[in-house]
Amino acid sequence: MINLLDLDPAAMTAFFAERGEKPFRAKQTLRWVHHRLADRVELMSDLAKATREALARDAEIRAPSVVRDSTAADGTRKWLLDVGNANAIEAVYIPETDRGTLCVSSQAGCALDCAFCSTGKQGFNRNLSVGEIIGQLWHANRALLADGIAAPWVEHGRHPITNVVMMGMGEPLANFDNVVTALEIMLDDNAYGLSRRRVTLSTSGLVPALDRLGDACPVALAVSLHAPNDALRDRLVPINRKYPLAELLAACLRYIEKAPRDFVTFEYVMLDHVNDGPEHARELIALVRDVPCKFNLIPFNPFPNTEFKTSSRTRILAFQRILRDAGLIATIRKTRGEDIDAACGQLAGQVQDRTRRTLRRIQPVAAQ
Ligand code: SF4
Repeated sequence: MINLLDLDPAAMTAFFAERGEKPFRAKQTLRWVHHRLADRVELMSDLAKATREALARDAEIRAPSVVRDSTAADGTRKWLLDVGNANAIEAVYIPETDRGTLCVSSQAGCALDCAFCSTGKQGFNRNLSVGEIIGQLWHANRALLADGIAAPWVEHGRHPITNVVMMGMGEPLANFDNVVTALEIMLDDNAYGLSRRRVTLSTSGLVPALDRLGDACPVALAVSLHAPNDALRDRLVPINRKYPLAELLAACLRYIEKAPRDFVTFEYVMLDHVNDGPEHARELIALVRDVPCKFNLIPFNPFPNTEFKTSSRTRILAFQRILRDAGLIATIRKTRGEDIDAACGQLAGQVQDRTRRTLRRIQPVAAQ
């Protein structure tokens, strides 16, 4: 059985061509699946009856099923989705006044083992299929519409989700082909029609794949930086040992040439007395001197058995001040959905703790 959520426009066209159908059938079907969010082929009333019946025999629309659906006091909504073999992934909806953002997962678990990450501690299970990635967007739009979401853009006929961030579980560039196909469906006018500026991919820094993304499907870019030098980043983000900062920043500059936005967003998780001192801020300023960028400072969201603590508000504000005084844009991420464990990987981690790694003890660096 073909899952229609797996097919990008080219694959949908090929699928119908094999069946002796005209290319416009592919467009019609894409619109049914992604515009109208149909969950059954039988609903596709403008397909000829014979075409529809034949399609219903061979194809279905199958998104991951919902294990848990929780809404926080601030409106953040999180779906825990079953992807088989006791694996669960998460999709998180973050409502704001002018947009609805969905944080999408790309892998069940993650192999990169960043020291501060709940998902990394669960180990790697597998890559998500295209249908499992795009199914998160399809499902979130359907669920929000079914619940009668009130948002001005929905009243004008747009989907509830206006922005996508590939920042959920997994390293998107480690599942390159499926992620790029899913991005193409997000961007296609016969599917979700999102602009490249409204789709952001976040990577921990797989340099060759970042170059490939710039050629294949440039969208807005966020990079998980988290440290101002290689010694500390080697410990916090182990992929840095393979692709150190100089290589990563050079790749960012190459990417910006092709990207829809002329800057990179650097994410920087604030770990108390590990990477949040004034000397780290000053080192960071020197490091990114030549890279057009913005900083997103993220208060660490603790999870069971972590060795890290959240930086105090005072330390975060002092860090932000140093960056701003140097002319950098630095915002502090608002903590959302705390009452439903909305930080990446926390809920799936409760469902299945696959921790097989020994937690490494990271000594505080240059404690204040
Ligand atoms: S921060 Fe991202 S890349 Fe690192 S372990 Fe977590 S999910 Fe993987």
